[in-house]
Amino acid sequence: MRERQRRGRTATPQIRTRYPDLDSLQVEFAFSDSGKFVPAPQTTVFHPAATAFFCFACPFGDCDGEFDLTSAIDLTARSGQLQSSGEVRCAGTRHRAAACTLSLEYSISPHCRQTGTAGDDGAAGGRVR
Ligand SMILES: [Zn+2]
Repeated sequence: MRERQRRGRTATPQIRTRYPDLDSLQVEFAFSDSGKFVPAPQTTVFHPAATAFFCFACPFGDCDGEFDLTSAIDLTARSGQLQSSGEVRCAGTRHRAAACTLSLEYSISPHCRQTGTAGDDGAAGGRVR
């Protein structure tokens, strides 16, 4: 599992390659679980030099699950939305084959380089003359 994660990360381009307009990407996590122990909320800010790898291991050390936010982040980053949020449940298995019940509420806030909406006046690629 962790080995697969590492391989995925090295095969993934940087954020600046995949999303050239993105200046930073803030991802907030809030967890809820039926158990007694609930992981603390997390905020992660990704910078353009970071790898565009958005698969996060379940914070429970004995769980083999992961939260794959790749498509959610991709959708948000490409759509020009200011924020998107949603909820995913861990599909992993914890010790003694117990199903993980952790649920992750995420909030994705991309910050683009240019202010305002991506204009339709002129190509974003820039004019050369
Ligand atoms: Zn889990």
